[in-house]
Amino acid sequence: MRQTDKFPKKKTIHKVVVDRKLCIGAATCVVIAPRTFELDDEKIAIVLPKGENEDDDTLFMAAQSCPTQAILLYDEFGNKI
Ligand code: SF4
Repeated sequence: MRQTDKFPKKKTIHKVVVDRKLCIGAATCVVIAPRTFELDDEKIAIVLPKGENEDDDTLFMAAQSCPTQAILLYDEFGNKI
């Protein structure tokens, strides 16, 4: 086994989605990644436009911290990460 096979390359986040039906407005994601998530008027998280968003590690952390797993991450092929 080659060394690179043992440690597969980490997937890159291409798209971030919040499932509005699952979001309870806990705002953990907003605290961890305020340049990517914001609460709207209904206190449900929305994803801000791409630009100054946090790096992938921070976005993974935000998704993992969501109490209802409402944050969905997709790679460049549209596969859920
Ligand atoms: S952490 Fe999850 S439940 Fe809380 S606001 Fe973000 S998406 Fe919604």
